[in-house]
This record gives sequence, C-alpha cells and structure tokens, in this order.
Amino acid sequence: MLIVMKQGASASEIDAVTNHLRDLGLTAQEIPGQNCTLLGVSGGDVDSVDLNTFRTYSGVQQVLNVTSPFKLSGREYKRDDTIVSLPGRPAVKFGGRKVVVIAGPCSVEGRGQALALARELKAAGVNVMRGGLFKPRTSPFSFQGLEDEGFRILEEIRALGMKFVTEAVDEHSLEMVEAHADMIQIGARNMQNFSLLKRVGKSRLPVMLKRGMSATLEDLLMAADYILSGGNANVVLCERGIRTFARHTRNTLDLSLIPAIKELSHLPIIVDPSHATGDRRYVPPMALAAIAAGADGVMVEVHSDPNCALSDGAQSLYPAQFRELLPQMRAVAQAVGREI
Ligand code: PEP
Ligand code: MN
Repeated sequence: MLIVMKQGASASEIDAVTNHLRDLGLTAQEIPGQNCTLLGVSGGDVDSVDLNTFRTYSGVQQVLNVTSPFKLSGREYKRDDTIVSLPGRPAVKFGGRKVVVIAGPCSVEGRGQALALARELKAAGVNVMRGGLFKPRTSPFSFQGLEDEGFRILEEIRALGMKFVTEAVDEHSLEMVEAHADMIQIGARNMQNFSLLKRVGKSRLPVMLKRGMSATLEDLLMAADYILSGGNANVVLCERGIRTFARHTRNTLDLSLIPAIKELSHLPIIVDPSHATGDRRYVPPMALAAIAAGADGVMVEVHSDPNCALSDGAQSLYPAQFRELLPQMRAVAQAVGREI
C-alpha cells in the first residue's frame, strides 16, 4: 500500500498517519518525492487494512493499493510514462518521442582515443557518449579501467557538448561519476547490489540500470524501486541480454522485455545490443530490432580500432559501421512513429 500525502502536508499530518499505521502493526517508509511525500506501507497484515481509514486523514491525497511486487516503478503507482532528462543543450530525453542513441567505447582507454572518437560521434549527431572508467571485469587480470585518472578526459569530452554516461561500482566510483558525468550506469553485475542502489537513490544524477544477467522483469523493477524509494525518480532501464543455453551469442537479447516493461512500468527502457550479442556482426540488426520493438534508446559500443581495444573489441563497431547504422535506425524509428 502507498499513501500519497498532499503537497505541503505538515510533519504533524504525516506523523498522525504513521502513528496510526504503527498502532495497526504496520511500518511506514517515508519516500521523498519531487512534489510530495509518499509513505510506503509494509509489514503485518497490510492486505487486510481498510484503505478508507486513511483516505479521510488530513493531508492525505490518495491511498493506493499496489498489488504488484514492484511498487514505485509500476503503472499502478504512476500511469503516465516517465521522461528522464539529461539537462543541458541539447537536452536529452529518454521516454519521449525521440529514441536516444548512446555510443562509445567499452572502456575509456586514453585521452587521444576517447577525444577523437567523441569528436567523430558528435559530428555524426550523437549527443550521449558511453565509456567505462571502473570496469567490472570477469577476470582480475583483465584491464580494470583508468579509474580516477580518466575523469579529466570526461571533462574535455563534455566541453564538446557531449553528455557522458559511465559506470559506478561502489561508493568511491559513484562520487567520481557524480562529480564528472551526466548519468550513472549501474551494470548488470551490480543490479542487485542493494546498498549501491540505495546510495544511487540519493543521487541527483539520472541512472541507467542494466538488467542483471539472470534477472527477471520483476527483479529488475524491484531493483529500480530501490533507487526510486530513495527519492531519485530518474531511472532508465537497460536490457543487455541474459544468460541462456544458447552459445551463438554472448548473451540472449530478450526483446520481449520491452513491450512487457511498457505495459507494466512507466520507466523508459533502452537496449544494449553490444553486450547482448558480443559480436559486431549482430549488433546492427539487433539495434534496429530494438527500435522496432519500442525501445526508448540504444547503447552501442564503437571503437576506432576494435582489434586493439582493451575490452570488448569483438562487439565494438567500427566508426564507419556505426555511421552506416545511424540512418537505418532513423528509418526504423520513423516507421514506428518515433524519431532520432
Ligand atoms: C558496460 O556496459 O560497460 C557493461 C559492463 O555492461 P554490463 O554491465 O551489461 O555487462
Ligand atoms: Mn563492454
């Protein structure tokens, strides 16, 4: 159950509600919203509580009986699509008519590499770049990222008018991302790092939350709830493939997640066909399919010299391939009533 307090509800009005809930053996978690305070009610026998009791309390706007396991990310709580903006010029909006294209290397490898690619992408019309500085690698002997040293490069890239999304893996990297980037990426491996999600919920930056490699739709939306319940309403989901028995691709891209999420959640969803397939030959068709299926964006790995990339070269597109893909993505977007 969710109790939505009126905008400007006083502390004593909130206290009156929470005290009554406590008397009923229930707990209320205060969720700071942009315009109002929410009370997330749990514990005890919450389903048997008569919601009308609270509807008449002073300061209460609405009482919602949310039946799904995910609460704040579901349409039972919020019917209208959420639009997540990266402020600035041009503003980037996830979840509107425009399909957002994010491109860049798997890892930021150095100043020259990243800046040259940023200029190339900018010239092609891309406004959001990706690139990891803290890399959660499967082996400790693989390249771990430039870490703190690389953030100076991001500042130079952002000075070109490019927005930057990069991954945070812990408290320290999150502080660096908050200080030097436009969007926090939470990777597949950390989708259920609940302490990290709670901390990200307190951040002022929008978040891209990638689906864990064996996460269900419910798992993903409950992970998003961790961020939303901290007061950060700006969450973009990302399908990046899941582990299945199929071995012809690195993961299996679950495109059916897109319409299912659109039905059940108000949050925008983008697709990462690079990590989903692990093979640059399959990235363009899957990027096009994602847009056709209703994705609010695609995130594609691009590298100027993939054979020498320090991570994920095999799935990185050559810049020329990416330039060829862009007009195709525009055409598909247009065919489904969207725009790039
Ligand atoms: C990434 O996008 O850099 C990444 C590591 O992807 P994932 O978390 O989906 O594996
Ligand atoms: Mn990668």
